[in-house]
Amino acid sequence: MTPSRGLQDTHNRIIRDLRVSITDRCNFRCAYCLPETEEAANFYRSNQTGNKPSNRETKLGYPWKPKSQILSFEEITRIIRVASSLGVNKVRITGGEPLLRRNVESLVADIATLGTVDDLSLTSNGTHFPRLAKRLKDAGLSRITLSLDSLDRENFKKITGRDGLDDVRESIRLAKTLDLTPVKVNAVIIRGLNDHEIEDLAKFAIDEQIVMRMIEFMPLDSGRAWQRDHVVPGAEILQRIKARFSLSALPSQHPAETATRWSLGEGCAEIGIIAPVTQPFCGQCNRIRLTADGNIRTCLFSVHEHDLKPMLRDGSSDDALASMLQGIVLKKEPGHRIDQPGFVQPERSMSCIGG
Ligand code: SAM
Ligand code: SF4
Repeated sequence: MTPSRGLQDTHNRIIRDLRVSITDRCNFRCAYCLPETEEAANFYRSNQTGNKPSNRETKLGYPWKPKSQILSFEEITRIIRVASSLGVNKVRITGGEPLLRRNVESLVADIATLGTVDDLSLTSNGTHFPRLAKRLKDAGLSRITLSLDSLDRENFKKITGRDGLDDVRESIRLAKTLDLTPVKVNAVIIRGLNDHEIEDLAKFAIDEQIVMRMIEFMPLDSGRAWQRDHVVPGAEILQRIKARFSLSALPSQHPAETATRWSLGEGCAEIGIIAPVTQPFCGQCNRIRLTADGNIRTCLFSVHEHDLKPMLRDGSSDDALASMLQGIVLKKEPGHRIDQPGFVQPERSMSCIGG
């Protein structure tokens, strides 16, 4: 039963979607998320004429949180159970790289067994997916999103810091075979880095009959090197694809959908454009996030977090936890302020927040 009020904020948005980061660790070093070297953090600054690499101190990587601060699977499942009692029915497991966490399939099974989550998905960079795919499917995973920013081996390495192209391609093939569908593939498009591959990525979606989602680069990189002119606006991405392929607009499946969707060619290939920077969708946002160390973030760009750990570990009841969640959601920000003066980039990078 959903207690009265559920999870509703002061802007009448009802929270149904919980993104759960289960680890802040990652085996990749994506330049837009967790760059490893000063050069990687700076690549887009130095690529641009007139944009000298800044002397600003960049924070490379992130000291991993100690295990004692990371939520156990029991604690995560409990939060999901309580959130479900308040109306959450969609859960995405993410990270860091969620498949680095040992026995992740047992967490999937625990969540699936709750019987309250209609859509249980997971986002991965694909390195460990081929090994775990069957177990995840058997445990009750509904579908998978994989990240793939380049089809060129060298560029893939440059962007992610790792030689992982073959693993992602194999993961896409396997996800289709196991019917973890629709298989969605995320590509963050960055000017001067992979924007020359937009058409190739669209063609890849047709060849593989998958949903390719092109995402605007957001200021959530640990290198703090994001600049506005390296964002390729969603409208530009769309126009480039339209110039080469036959597209038809797809109806929105849900008001809180982040992507505008287009069918691509004759089959079931799709393009999704996710444009949080140039076309914010905050007014319809129905998401909150749980970090691996037990903090609720009411927005990707929150500068304040709400720590659930003390309550999880001091014997508080589920009712108390539910009230706490309701109180936190009341503080959900009206929207991000990326384009406004005084915008403050969150302290933690996407790898800690959970994309
Ligand atoms: N490690 C997994 C992966 O990469 O798929 C899951 C976590 S990752 C943080 C989730 C998604 O966030 C990825 O698809 C990634 O491309 C996206 N992401 C990370 N940093 C981003 C940024 N600065 N702007 C836009 N998307 C970003
Ligand atoms: Fe790791 Fe994913 Fe961030 Fe890349 S985007 S560094 S794979 S968490």
